Amino acid sequence: MKVLVVGSGGREHSLVWKIRQSPRVEKVYCAPGNSGIGEMAELVPMGPDEIEKLADFAEREKIDLTVVGPELPLTLGISDFFEKRGQKIFGPNREAARLEGSKAFAKEILKENNIATASFSTFTDSNSAKRYLAEQRPPYVIKADGLAGGKGVIICPSREEAESTIDNILVGKVFGQAGAKVVIEEFLEGEEASFMALIDGNHFLSLASSQDHKRVFDGDRGPNTGGMGAYSPAPVINSAMHRRIVDEILEPLIKGLKKRGVNFRGVLYVGLMIAGDGPKVLEFNVRFGDPECQPVMMRLKSDLVDLMEATIEGRLDEIKAEWDSDSGVCVVLCAHGYPGSYEKGKEIRGLEKLYDWNRGFAFHGGTVKEGARWLTSGGRVLGLTARGVNIEEAVREVYQAVGKIQWEGMHYRTDIAQRALKRDEGGGS
Ligand code: AMP
Repeated sequence: MKVLVVGSGGREHSLVWKIRQSPRVEKVYCAPGNSGIGEMAELVPMGPDEIEKLADFAEREKIDLTVVGPELPLTLGISDFFEKRGQKIFGPNREAARLEGSKAFAKEILKENNIATASFSTFTDSNSAKRYLAEQRPPYVIKADGLAGGKGVIICPSREEAESTIDNILVGKVFGQAGAKVVIEEFLEGEEASFMALIDGNHFLSLASSQDHKRVFDGDRGPNTGGMGAYSPAPVINSAMHRRIVDEILEPLIKGLKKRGVNFRGVLYVGLMIAGDGPKVLEFNVRFGDPECQPVMMRLKSDLVDLMEATIEGRLDEIKAEWDSDSGVCVVLCAHGYPGSYEKGKEIRGLEKLYDWNRGFAFHGGTVKEGARWLTSGGRVLGLTARGVNIEEAVREVYQAVGKIQWEGMHYRTDIAQRALKRDEGGGS
């Protein structure tokens, strides 16, 4: 069969890499992809939001399955468009994608189904928002309602800062329409973890647990990024915690969505804060996390295409996923300036040293090949991902590989997975 992957980052590279391992797949395309992905898939020069062009391409090339990586086309309704034309697509429809596309909608669903989350209130008017602030305690968590590329959550230590953040969003429109509403939330303490599951409308299949690192600097300092690294499994999600997440979050959510007539079919990512009183939902994403997807794909033994088809066809109760007992760790190498404005076009040295890396893979997030030279072309340039018998070994392996790569201004975190190493209970899945 032929598969088209939509998107261009490290997540999409790991999806292409995994899909190509399926004995059922003869050819993989990626739109628009990047040069690294181009080493293993045919690149299609179309943006992820060019929905009609993508559907025409899929029809012309007789694509059997389209897999959507990023959130934007999902919130724009790419799945509805393909499905209407009888084309098979992996990713939730527009209505279901609102779980990520509108934080206010996500909070409403959580509240309706008694799922634990930070207490909150939603505002369109800045004076009412400020009046509400006066009754809250710092730090204040202010969120733009819509998609803001991972930058829409601002945690403000002082009321002054919170008030000016509200003005920036609601009056200054720094996030445009994505900031037509703000959500003000209670600040939650605890340990963050991510939980991903395939959902077919009625049933679910949990994926291996994972944890990403959002802040740019070691020790969780500095501004939020798209993600600086990830590891799987995440020991904080031991089997008792897994059970609680399923019972207290996933099952009520699936029931609640059904009750509203929302048919979620795809992968749901639940961002969690885990504290003494149990797991609470921070956010939903309606696609694989990037970079969590990279170590999770590395650990998946089952055929990803089979799992995706079962999701689309409502057969997740008939299928199981097999996982490698190895751990996976991904370290993201970034361009100078990222997550702010960053440099492009720097020559990457050392990639050829990883061509025969048998304990890992260099997933490309933003590279371009010019002749024989590899140049940077994005903020998150590479996601080196290694396996090991445990997290410790995978960490050692991945940082050895990192030591082989260089470009001017390259930066990365040196403490990926340290939190997992500090925990002694283990037992994640
Ligand atoms: P989100 O995109 O909603 O997950 O937010 C991005 C990051 O902001 C999260 O990974 C947390 O680190 C932090 N965050 C979001 N909401 C809260 C909250 N209510 N309390 C504490 N931290 C939060």
